[in-house]
Amino acid sequence: MATSPVMVEVDLWGSGRLAGHLRVPQSRDDSGWGTIQVPIVVIANGTGPTVLLTAGNHGDEYEGQVALLDLARTLPAEEVQGRVILLPAMHYPACAAGKRLSPLDGRDFNRCFPGDPFGGFALSLAHFVDSVLLPLCDVQMDLHSGGTGMDIVPSAVGHMLDHPEMQARTLAMADAFGAPVTLLLKEVNAGPTLLAAAENRGVVALSSELGGGGRLNPRALAITKRGVRNVLRHAGVLQGKPEIGEYGHPRRMTVPDLGHYVFAPADGIWEAAHELGAAVQADAPAGLLHRIEDPTAPPIALSYKATGLLWCVRHAGRVKAGDPVAVIARDL
Ligand code: CA
Repeated sequence: MATSPVMVEVDLWGSGRLAGHLRVPQSRDDSGWGTIQVPIVVIANGTGPTVLLTAGNHGDEYEGQVALLDLARTLPAEEVQGRVILLPAMHYPACAAGKRLSPLDGRDFNRCFPGDPFGGFALSLAHFVDSVLLPLCDVQMDLHSGGTGMDIVPSAVGHMLDHPEMQARTLAMADAFGAPVTLLLKEVNAGPTLLAAAENRGVVALSSELGGGGRLNPRALAITKRGVRNVLRHAGVLQGKPEIGEYGHPRRMTVPDLGHYVFAPADGIWEAAHELGAAVQADAPAGLLHRIEDPTAPPIALSYKATGLLWCVRHAGRVKAGDPVAVIARDL
């Protein structure tokens, strides 16, 4: 096992339903030997693949956290062939605070990979996930939603990969998850993400975007609960074929480049021209950016730069210069 200061208080090689904590050192003024407890559940039986399912990478994204809590309670160990490792609230301090970023140090956990064993809580935990958990895995899925800022059409998300076989395996697993959309993404700053860390280790890796707006969306939760079981079926850890949702087979789409994003050029209040999921055209109005600093000036009009599905819209009203306010997906 790689050198890590993180203590694992569950037997990763045990069988049955094993619940415990990762204990990550976090020194405080009043507790020099203090640790932060990150919940972990291992459900294992017999021989088979290992699947790592994580949620709460960002603390204000709730569908994955609740779907993994459900799986931790209800997945019968005797139905498992192999091993399921669950981290339902991976970046625990952010989850407990209901925030994207850590209240400890302001870090975005999904920009901390591959981590540093002695770099502080987030880097230390990222290093543990990368160097201890990922090498055990055949398949990994990190469950995200749109968070406080964004609202996103429920989607299983994979990265665009150079390796055709890994791309095909990623697409097949994303389709098996069975969200309305299977999306291949060219992500802003993807390098230090958990998804990229898993890809670097040859693990079939998937993320998701399942709603947002800082709430738990019941429809997105139902998609997520079915989706994580579908991933386990697809991986061969559970018997049976993946279940198809009421919306049919996923629509395969892509956000191929940053030309499919609309970014706010200034601070302001965003008035979107369309609802999430609308079909939109290049050069059509995307919305208006209202500037409170200059009441007599007209709002800044922004246009889409691509034709396709309005896959992601800004949810929070207030935006800063450089924030994306719309992302367009097109059919793959
Ligand atoms: Ca996220």
